[in-house]
Amino acid sequence: MRAFFSDDQLLHDPQQYMRVGRICKPADLPARAEALMGTLATRGIAIGIPSDVGRAALERVHSTDYLDYLETAYARWQQIRSFGLEPGIEVLPNMSPHGSRQGPCPSPAVLAQTGWYVGDLSCPIGPNTWRSVLRSAHAALAAARTVLDGDRIAYALCRPSGHHAQSARAAGFCYVNNSALAAATLRETHARVAVLDIDAHHGDGTQQIFYDRDDVLTISTHADPAGYYPWYTGYAHECGAGAGEDCNLNLPLPHGSGNAAFSQALDRAVEAIERFRPEALVLPLGFDTYRDDPISVLGFDLEAFRLAGARVRALGLPTVVVQEGGYMVDILGPALDAFLEGLQP
Ligand SMILES: [Zn+2]
Repeated sequence: MRAFFSDDQLLHDPQQYMRVGRICKPADLPARAEALMGTLATRGIAIGIPSDVGRAALERVHSTDYLDYLETAYARWQQIRSFGLEPGIEVLPNMSPHGSRQGPCPSPAVLAQTGWYVGDLSCPIGPNTWRSVLRSAHAALAAARTVLDGDRIAYALCRPSGHHAQSARAAGFCYVNNSALAAATLRETHARVAVLDIDAHHGDGTQQIFYDRDDVLTISTHADPAGYYPWYTGYAHECGAGAGEDCNLNLPLPHGSGNAAFSQALDRAVEAIERFRPEALVLPLGFDTYRDDPISVLGFDLEAFRLAGARVRALGLPTVVVQEGGYMVDILGPALDAFLEGLQP
């Protein structure tokens, strides 16, 4: 198995985010990636630097206007001084547009576009954010390319994460949807691709991107969103639309659920995947389901990750594993190790 990561992904260094009405220290620390790399090194897994393929491939799942915004927002944020405004240290929205945000933002102003394209207060854009986001996407693209070229499994050490990013909206520490990019890349060769998201949070961005498509099955196991981010989606009744009807499966877990509930959800996910008959799999992998994660409401232990790896192995599909969340830095290495033990005993 090969893994992909660029040191440029460490450059994104968020300074703040808003949680329950407080400005907090960020949870998406560069140390997360370093902890995961430690496990890859211990297991002798080679870490390749992904090719820098620019941003054109990102337009497979994101709108051009949104990517233009992400790429230029920080520099334009500095220019608001010319209007007599003193910009904060990072780009953050202070408005929420009324009604639909469909299509490009009607205003050219960076302040307006930040409200339009950034869905919450957990996605600050700093001087190096775009570079890290772009390279994180490249890691996912490289892992997918490796699987298309014949490797059975590849691991994209993505940081920043991606599964909350919609086609034209950043949210939940996510800017570009790495898992969706991996799925779109696998579609070059494979007629049907399944995405099985096992992060603690609903993969709302991935669901939105593929919601009306019948060639990509999106499944997400996550904590019940009635009391947990992303709140507005992730419910069991969301099944897809149009051609994509019955191609989206949400498996919300009651808060406090442990390994047994997760195992049952995986049973249902495996049944749905086998019915769909995909030719390849993307696995958005989060460790924020761990019981002691600072934002966890679930009660998984390390055995849950070994179990997940074993289930993925049993599916026998060409698989791209894409790193998503997990914020207890000390547990990330052991969690990845447990997952890989299940995947490749
Ligand atoms: Zn998460």
